[in-house]
Amino acid sequence: MTTTPASSVADYIDTHREAFLEDLRTLVHAETPSTDKPLLDAGLDVVRAVVVGLLGEPSAEARHDGGSYGDVLDLRWEGRDAEGTMVPAADAGDAVLVVCHYDTVWPAGTIETWPLSVDGDWLTGPGVLDMKFGIVQTAWAVKALRELGIGHPPVRMLLTGDEEIGSVAGRPHIEAAARESALTLVTEPSAAGNPKDRRKGMVFADLRVTGRQAHAGLEPEKGASAVHALAALISEVVALESAEHGTTVTVGTFHGGTGRNVVAGAAEALVDVRVTMPEEQERVVAELQALRLPEPYAADERLTLEVDVDANRPPMNPGPETAPLLERVVEIGRGLGRELQPTAVGGASDANFVSALGLPVLDGLGAVGEGPHAVHEHILLSGIAPQTALLAGILADAVK
Ligand SMILES: [Zn+2]
Repeated sequence: MTTTPASSVADYIDTHREAFLEDLRTLVHAETPSTDKPLLDAGLDVVRAVVVGLLGEPSAEARHDGGSYGDVLDLRWEGRDAEGTMVPAADAGDAVLVVCHYDTVWPAGTIETWPLSVDGDWLTGPGVLDMKFGIVQTAWAVKALRELGIGHPPVRMLLTGDEEIGSVAGRPHIEAAARESALTLVTEPSAAGNPKDRRKGMVFADLRVTGRQAHAGLEPEKGASAVHALAALISEVVALESAEHGTTVTVGTFHGGTGRNVVAGAAEALVDVRVTMPEEQERVVAELQALRLPEPYAADERLTLEVDVDANRPPMNPGPETAPLLERVVEIGRGLGRELQPTAVGGASDANFVSALGLPVLDGLGAVGEGPHAVHEHILLSGIAPQTALLAGILADAVK
């Protein structure tokens, strides 16, 4: 293995490992549950302090109010040439955008019983993998390039606070920033060190049936069971699945009724559909919206069905704008003595939005680890330097 810009970054990160880990600890301990606005606000201040502490004051900055969702912080720094001279962006399109979310799925107080801690090669803590690491990694990658005198393009970090709940506030900012950038990188967790080149798209549906309650023994005929009606509909929902097209349907929850001896007045099911093809997303949305209660329930005017469909994220498939970049990433990996294999995954990310616009995007460049959203969430300490070096190598390669 020869010395490449990326491999010297790996050495640099190893040398600065304690400081890197301290930054990571600071971010993990600043809890940021997606639905807790005061904690998100405070957490974003901490994120800014850590990132600006590493990279200095940005050349441009904006903080967009997220309403009840987490704010979006947009930070930009100039590029540098190999002599360390600032290279102002000739136009905004020269910049590389790195999208990170700072919200996590973990509720407030989790950190009290589960602080960031080391166990062998494991570094475990709430949100360390998904994706506090990716924020620290990005800032350290740029810092390393600067200090090693390796040129890099202007860098723009977009920090969003609602990725885990659908990116309602983040999405327009992500799409706008990606349109203004040469390339978008997403430092979500990697697939065992490999970038993620395909992600499924999602459709969420909430099905609600209202009926009429009655005593199950005395006068069941006066009732109209919402449970019976919704149960009869579920097989139609499951039938939307298409193994051939990679479309899966999960009825994740089914709730209804108030007691064994009561004809149920209400029932609800929450449905999760994953698709690999945009046409499948359209088909599923149309079919969900067209759902009607089957007979004999359809004829019963006391029963009503309400369907809320949210085509949350489009599927991500590498188009002509991204495929050659993935080949470059594999080459950069070889410079680090690695044989990377871009990997398809079921979970979606903010990269799905960028990909759907036909813009170049690389995703899954973050930590090596396991257990996102699970109590065994951890990253591998041995993955920190290689993944930060890979990210730095991609940045250095993007110099115009
Ligand atoms: Zn994530």
